[in-house]
Amino acid sequence: MSTRPATASARSVEEHRGRVEQLLRPLAVRDIEDAGMGEALGRRLAEDVRAPVDLPVFRNSGMDGYAVRAESVSVTPVTLPLAGVVAAGQPGQAPLPDGAAVKVMTGAPIPPGADCVVPVEDTRAGDGTVTVERGRTAGDFVREPGTDVRAGDLLVRAGTLLAPRHIAALAAVGLPALPVFRRVRAAVLTTGDELVPAGETLRPGQIYNSNGIALGAALAANGVEVVSVEHSRDDPAEFRGALARAAGSADVVFTSGGVSKGDFEVVKDVLAGAGGEFGAVAVQPGGPQGLSVVDGVPVLSFPGNPVSTMVSFEVFARPILRELGGLPPVAKDDVALLDSVRSPAGRRQFLRGRLAEDGVALVSGPGSHLIAAMAHADVLIDIPSEVTELAAGSIVKVWEL
Ligand code: AMP
Ligand code: MG
Repeated sequence: MSTRPATASARSVEEHRGRVEQLLRPLAVRDIEDAGMGEALGRRLAEDVRAPVDLPVFRNSGMDGYAVRAESVSVTPVTLPLAGVVAAGQPGQAPLPDGAAVKVMTGAPIPPGADCVVPVEDTRAGDGTVTVERGRTAGDFVREPGTDVRAGDLLVRAGTLLAPRHIAALAAVGLPALPVFRRVRAAVLTTGDELVPAGETLRPGQIYNSNGIALGAALAANGVEVVSVEHSRDDPAEFRGALARAAGSADVVFTSGGVSKGDFEVVKDVLAGAGGEFGAVAVQPGGPQGLSVVDGVPVLSFPGNPVSTMVSFEVFARPILRELGGLPPVAKDDVALLDSVRSPAGRRQFLRGRLAEDGVALVSGPGSHLIAAMAHADVLIDIPSEVTELAAGSIVKVWEL
């Protein structure tokens, strides 16, 4: 673990997050677009939607059984002549003759004149007849039109985050598409000469580019539309070109890598020269952070270590992105530590933890390269900056991942 003290000029997590939020809050989108029903899950409904039709659409049977008049089965057992059979999907407009029964399937129209359905379980079929063993009262197993929702009534309210249950109701009234708010559009730009995309064979010194994919996933999971994921070598001209494309296509750009104190810090070199704020935040992991505006578009620059990138996203970007997308805030909880913890003085530390019944356990050490271990975590453990040691059993704040 690094024990470097925070530099005197380091911003606090709250300060830096405040700056990020100040830059991103104006991105609140009010534009409305249509989403097909297959793409509507997780989107936010932009307008009240009223039912264009009644549900049920027509009077139909709630059971496989026999449509009758209740008065015909008031004394049982009773044998009635069978006047017909109606399957689901048939128009079923022939009226029920007096004193007769019509066999109906679930969802089939109820013949005019019938007022209840006797479930098939309570009957015995004869030759052109049916014997009803148990009587029913008017209305039994008859689904009347409009008893679920009436045409013109409010079905789902504007602002609703569309879950499967909302989509089920909206699909049931036959809507082909829904008005939803456009999502914030983000571009991801990774940097590093050592990085290669999945599918290529690693040569000595190379690693796979995981931050591009990971940031794309993190953004998508938080209500953001990812318009591009690009990579640039540690070459200022190449980076400038990629950055201009990213800023030209998105509301916000996320970069990874190139912001530390090494010799080839392309992101910092290009953006600090163009007015970006680059410096240390009193946090571990994710200390070096950058914040810039390129062609009017905010650019958040995260350090490249994979855990640093993910934690930077969780701590600085995710809260405001969820707010912009109308998503519920990240869940936080107070739980008992199952392990003892050491933490650097003057830096807020976010450790990876896994919740158990009786508390939270560490999944790895604090190293910001331990991305495989992070897959086992379900929370970040938030250790305040003034704390240097915590015994097992201490209560800590955890942020749900
Ligand atoms: P940097 O912030 O560019 O100095 O990178 C810090 C560490 O993170 C180095 O070990 C890089 O190889 C690694 N790294 C940077 N970018 C990525 C990326 N996109 N995917 C995976 N690892 C990365
Ligand atoms: Mg790099």
